[in-house]
Amino acid sequence: MRISNFIGGEWASTAEYISSVNPSTGEPYLEVPRSGENEVAAAVQAAKSAFPAWRSLRAEERADILDRIADGIDARLSEFAQMESDDQGKPVSLATSLDIPRAALNFRFFAGAIRHELSHAAPIDARTFSYVRREPIGVAGLISPWNLPLYLLTWKIAPALAYGNTCVAKPSEWTSGTAWLLAKVMKEAGLPAGVCNLVFGYGHEAGQALVEHEDVPLISFTGGTVTGRKIAETAAPRLKKLSLELGGKNPTIVFKDALEMFSVQELAKNVARSAFLNQGEICLCGSRLYVEETFYDEFSEALVREVKALTVGDPRDASSFMGPLVSSEHLAKVSSYIQHAKDTGLKILCGGERPTALPSSTGRDLSKGYFVQPTIVADVPESSRLQKEEVFGPVVTLSRFKSEDEVVALANSTRYGLSASLWTNSLSRAHGMAARLEAGTVWINGWMIRDLRMPFGGVKDSGLGREGQMDSLHFFTEPKTVCVRFGRQEK
Ligand code: NAD
Repeated sequence: MRISNFIGGEWASTAEYISSVNPSTGEPYLEVPRSGENEVAAAVQAAKSAFPAWRSLRAEERADILDRIADGIDARLSEFAQMESDDQGKPVSLATSLDIPRAALNFRFFAGAIRHELSHAAPIDARTFSYVRREPIGVAGLISPWNLPLYLLTWKIAPALAYGNTCVAKPSEWTSGTAWLLAKVMKEAGLPAGVCNLVFGYGHEAGQALVEHEDVPLISFTGGTVTGRKIAETAAPRLKKLSLELGGKNPTIVFKDALEMFSVQELAKNVARSAFLNQGEICLCGSRLYVEETFYDEFSEALVREVKALTVGDPRDASSFMGPLVSSEHLAKVSSYIQHAKDTGLKILCGGERPTALPSSTGRDLSKGYFVQPTIVADVPESSRLQKEEVFGPVVTLSRFKSEDEVVALANSTRYGLSASLWTNSLSRAHGMAARLEAGTVWINGWMIRDLRMPFGGVKDSGLGREGQMDSLHFFTEPKTVCVRFGRQEK
């Protein structure tokens, strides 16, 4: 199947195409446009032309269109979920319950936000006051990664459009399919031509051209820290507004007193889910697990039991918890960390290999798919690559700690700071630690509970800026202060 760019409300072809592979079978299944400067220039021009009319619509009119896009996503739920799975490797069940509904929610949420938005005003004296207009910025450049393709792309498109900008979006070259489906939905929903344009292709070509383009004053990027740094280097001298959502190496911290609330099995189940959901390919996955020493043996036994029971198999099967990794390149990267653990004599508690049996009720040949077992490596030195670098796959480390001070220091001893999760029944410990952990989000007795009203982003190498209701408003608009005086000033 071949997909097209979506520029000015029309489908547009390119001279060359990238072959995108289905990671379950290792077979090519999608031809993705290989766009460059010309396609980006055409898309930016379309977005620029559409901007004056789009920004002039009443908020209510924009909100109605966003709601219709959400309805269109819901109506095609299974088509989206199937494609997301074929592109990315995630179980169809996960895409159906999480990725696609959350993508629809992104549109509904920002439609609601602009219906209820208020600006503020400040009286100066009886005849004078100031008020703030929040104005859209122009053509937003939106660049997204492959792990939660539609969900993260719509997390950018929805607020950009809601607040009156037009946009050019560039999804990951590995997972472009659902963005193309979204374009169909946007067309059906009556989004005016040129308001949202999709340009597919490689990051160093289409992505770079978008960041460099002089008519794109704002870039919202989600992806790896190395790419984020490169984008910052390109954007900074051009004085572009920039939001960077980058990598993570998130700690999960388990105290023994969590047993006052959960059974050991419940704790193990929750921690396993937060480590291995979506094959561990979520920037928020807990990849460094720290367990209180007095509870370590009991917990690690339960965790290993839980993880060994996770089914790795055909992502089209409802029973599969994990599918394949996204690509052969990524499998090679993740495998290199497992090899490093083996080469340095580290203790692998479970996993560490390709699964020997891959259950599939569809009868598909999965022998060339990019599967790997969920893997736990124990007692890894803090200086190890495994403890320091983002693997972004189903490989986690398990360590023990004695005290709060020690585990806070360990948790913070990374260049990343995206999220942390903490399991404890002690209120004072929970809030005390939340204050000390260096992270954009701290979950207490939970994980990946998202509230779109809250700021989302990371500290340190995990990013720059925040998105979320008010933060997205601030990012996707510029405030203008208008000072009004009625009549002549009395002497
Ligand atoms: P990546 O950085 O390789 O690519 C992300 C996007 O950037 C892709 O669309 C790619 O084509 C594009 N790109 C690459 N080079 C570019 C350039 N020079 N200019 C412009 N665009 C360019 O990341 P990835 O491998 O797709 O995604 C995995 C990474 O994303 C992980 O590090 C993960 O932690 C991170 N991530 C972060 C969050 C978050 O919210 N903080 C969420 C999801 C993923």
